[in-house]
Amino acid sequence: AIMVAGAVGALSEIWSELQRAAGATERLIELLETEDQVNDPIAPKTFGARARGDIRFNDVTFHYPSRPDTAALKDLQLDVKSGETVALVGPSGAGKSTILQLLLRFYDPDQGQVMLDGFDLTEMTRADFRQHIALVAQDPVIFAGSAMDNIRFGRPGASDQDVVDAAKAAAAHDFLMALPEQYNSELGERGVMLSGGQKQRIAIARAILRDAPVLLLDEATSALDAESERAVQGAIDDLAKDRTTLIVAHRLATVKKADRIVVFEEGGIVAQGTHEELVKEGGLYARLAKLQFTAEV
Ligand code: ADP
Ligand code: MG
Repeated sequence: AIMVAGAVGALSEIWSELQRAAGATERLIELLETEDQVNDPIAPKTFGARARGDIRFNDVTFHYPSRPDTAALKDLQLDVKSGETVALVGPSGAGKSTILQLLLRFYDPDQGQVMLDGFDLTEMTRADFRQHIALVAQDPVIFAGSAMDNIRFGRPGASDQDVVDAAKAAAAHDFLMALPEQYNSELGERGVMLSGGQKQRIAIARAILRDAPVLLLDEATSALDAESERAVQGAIDDLAKDRTTLIVAHRLATVKKADRIVVFEEGGIVAQGTHEELVKEGGLYARLAKLQFTAEV
């Protein structure tokens, strides 16, 4: 009987991993609110109209449920001030994306608190605090629908003009205008297939429309051509201005511009500082910088 229970347990774990894998490609905040690893509180606290965007990881330790023996984050202390841009760097598997997952409360830490403006995320509803966060995922979801609707997803009430303005700011306007039916072109599996760089610009346009005080960005690692890389870089720089920004950064250009660089290794922070400080220090950062951060792609 124990064997059977074990097998069923393993199966349901595999199943939830599969669901998660499916979800991983669509990391759109709204779509993921149905994912149920955590519960909202019965008597939630709430922000004022707009969060300031102070982020704190207070002594956070976290294991993914399917890997109880390996800490994805260990005794992590990280404060990001309102308006600051912080680049998270480090080798693959170091815990960078996990930081973003915990900030969106896809999971709760095993120990410690993840806080926004001094509130523990577990004290608020996810729908509430997620309104104050925009996410540009590594491989953004493009759903079946027009280009206009895909961008408007960032703020459902936005006018067509707002959508076009956001697309221009995200360097998406020109390639959208070149499509057979411009903004009315159908995207997604049965429509126009976009390149990785184009999808990211759609996601950036959504985030511009969303205009949230906290921006989370998992930078694309896929090789963009030089022109789209410049376009995406400019759009990200503009978007990061005046809001708290956490970027899982793979491009040296992004990293260098951050107010602060935090270097992760094996679920913990091993160094932090500016580009110049960290290069001078030598160590992991200096090695990654020499490789232009592309080694982990
Ligand atoms: P990074 O973004 O720095 O490459 P991650 O935060 O994705 O690293 O991963 C940190 C650790 O957690 C790694 O050991 C990774 O294998 C593990 N991990 C990441 N996502 C999951 C998951 N959904 N289930 C189980 N383990 C995971
Ligand atoms: Mg990652």
